[in-house]
Amino acid sequence: MSSDNMLAVWKTKQAAGLELKDAPIPKIKDDEVLIKVKATSICGTDRHIYLWDAWAQKRIGKNVPYIFGHEVAGEIAEIGTHAQGKGLEIGDHVSAETHISCGYCFQCKTGNEHICENVKILGVDTNGTFAEYLTLPYRNAWKNDKSLPHWVATAQEPLGNAVHTVFDGEIAGKTVSVFGMGPIGICAVALCKEAGAEKIIAVDPNDFRLKFAKDFGADVLVKARDTNVNVQKEILEETDGMGVDVFLEISGSASAITDGIATLRAGGRASILGVFSNPFLLDMNKVVFGNIRLTGINGRRMFDTWYKAASFLRSGKVKLEKLVTHRLKLSEIERGFEILERGEGMKVVLEP
Ligand SMILES: [Zn+2]
Ligand SMILES: [Zn+2]
Repeated sequence: MSSDNMLAVWKTKQAAGLELKDAPIPKIKDDEVLIKVKATSICGTDRHIYLWDAWAQKRIGKNVPYIFGHEVAGEIAEIGTHAQGKGLEIGDHVSAETHISCGYCFQCKTGNEHICENVKILGVDTNGTFAEYLTLPYRNAWKNDKSLPHWVATAQEPLGNAVHTVFDGEIAGKTVSVFGMGPIGICAVALCKEAGAEKIIAVDPNDFRLKFAKDFGADVLVKARDTNVNVQKEILEETDGMGVDVFLEISGSASAITDGIATLRAGGRASILGVFSNPFLLDMNKVVFGNIRLTGINGRRMFDTWYKAASFLRSGKVKLEKLVTHRLKLSEIERGFEILERGEGMKVVLEP
């Protein structure tokens, strides 16, 4: 490898799999910074891209070859001319907000950059973080506390998503159902606990994941799709037949929506973060007559969600490091995907 090159993980074909090969170290534009990657991690989105499922085929399509990955922690190695004097210094530890917004559309101008009309997603629409270096608009660089290890800081994105979902409404003193115990769901459980929820009911089909839910503060574990257990019946029993005050959907499964809405009390709140592979029917009368507040959650609010997440990290209230089950070399990435496919890992971190 020459000094101008770096190792990178490419999506070269419109098919399942990946390719490890050199790439030139990217050159920054005036408003960008160059980040030396110290840790990057595998997210659900990356698994869609790796497996090349229906979502990836539609979302990425012919936009190959490119370098994927979007969860990252690293050090600023270079600062573009327009990015100087904007609060970032060489050597600063940073992570990336993955929504690269335009700054001039209606949403951006009204404080909703996370749903920018022209948004580009890092590692989906642009070259990403599965590499030794990446370029990023300076505004998307989030400065980390230097005391936070890179291998933990890279897992902030799921925490941010969880913060956005949990604090979409009141949580203190509430009964809550959380569907989907991946890293985001686990963070959501931990946040509900710290924010004073009365009872947290965690739902997932996987025992390995439910064990994490318990360790992070879930009061009740419900194993979904177990023929001996009726999810709705269990949740209703746990809430004296009334249903929960708050339903957090983080699984992307249609049956979770059905079960979650059916066990949400009238006047309750449903915050939906899960990504669904197909459209499905929902009994809207339950929502209408139940006076239910149903909200879709996309990404993180820029950047108030990040400030909240950072505060939970600083105080040690959310133990993100416990989510990291594997630390591998970047070159071992394929093994990382295999671990996740077998359901044996929670957060897999890759270090170049
Ligand atoms: Zn992610
Ligand atoms: Zn915009």
